[in-house]
Amino acid sequence: MEVGFYGHVRQYHNLKGEIDKAISDVLESGQYVMGPALKRFEGELARYFGTKHAVGVNSGTDAIWLVLLALGIGPGDECITVTNTFFATAEAIWFTGATAVFVDSKPKTNNIDVGLIEAAITPKTKAIVPVHLYGQAVEMDKIAAIAKKHNLYVIEDCAQAVDARGASFRIGELSDAVCTSFIIQKNLGTFGDSGAIMTNRDDITETVLRLRNHGSPARSKHSMGYNSRLDDLHAGILSVKLKKITEWTDRRREVAAMYGEGLADIGLKLPYELPGYRHAYHLYVVETRNGKRDDLLKFLNGAGVDAKSHYPIAIHQQEGYPWGKGARIVGSVTNSEWNAANCVSLPMFPELTREEVDYTIAKTREWCAANA
Ligand SMILES: *Cc1c(COP(=O)(O)O)cnc(C)c1O
Repeated sequence: MEVGFYGHVRQYHNLKGEIDKAISDVLESGQYVMGPALKRFEGELARYFGTKHAVGVNSGTDAIWLVLLALGIGPGDECITVTNTFFATAEAIWFTGATAVFVDSKPKTNNIDVGLIEAAITPKTKAIVPVHLYGQAVEMDKIAAIAKKHNLYVIEDCAQAVDARGASFRIGELSDAVCTSFIIQKNLGTFGDSGAIMTNRDDITETVLRLRNHGSPARSKHSMGYNSRLDDLHAGILSVKLKKITEWTDRRREVAAMYGEGLADIGLKLPYELPGYRHAYHLYVVETRNGKRDDLLKFLNGAGVDAKSHYPIAIHQQEGYPWGKGARIVGSVTNSEWNAANCVSLPMFPELTREEVDYTIAKTREWCAANA
């Protein structure tokens, strides 16, 4: 049996009528850039997140970068985040000229260890950039309290956690802005690249609207900006998909429950869901405890299960890590390093069948029994 890692084509087939129509509607409209499909999707997105504004941009990376710029963050400033995330979180900070300051993650959730943040704050600290890794929200209530006490901005990296929720808060409720990505492999993804910024702040909105379009407040007028727009074709497709996101997350959570049951007590560390939280299971990440992660991956791949690893190289272990300039580690990041060394992502997408999940469980159990 072959179990794929993504269900993109299945998802397209399930929605083919609506998606094809959305594409042809945009094509027939004659407006492809900053047109009505984008405007409509931004309205839907803001309503969905419960924020005052949503601004479409070219990618999740640009979303973070443009928000940091809008907040005036640049050389000499510091932003606190984690090293066990996708490279783009830090990249966006570096692109402003600011320094990325890394604190360790918590083994249980693999999200930022909120208890370590205050010790990393210096007079140069301007922002905290929490990453809702794998689809589980960071404890934003605690982050917001720290930010308030030290007068810091909070920018949520929600690329993996659309449709996640905390026990007592929604994503976007306790921060200055939320940044997300709609690249195809995300929970809400188009057939290509794009991203968005959700915020309640008028000043951030006004600035990112200019920055994404050559600094232009009106036709032919410019100040310094960039080209980072969300194309109308993608907006049209995303409008169709946004209507499905709750149902898809529910299904991801069902698959996670099947994995949780089938893989209990066989020596793997399974995902931990904080009480009352809605984990969106962008990824279902287990961790080996015997140091044989690569062996498990090889075994699963050999058995036809396309398991992967997110992320086997933490940011500070990357070749491009700017040691000494632009980055600083506070304390140790051994939990993040452990995560990088032991993580295995099992296939996780809403269109997975019971048979595929059962096969993945059976093969994982087989390896664990032989490698106890
Ligand atoms: C995907 C991702 C990004 C970047 O999004 P792009 O649209 O690929 O630029 C940033 N942060 C995290 C945590 C991601 O998973």
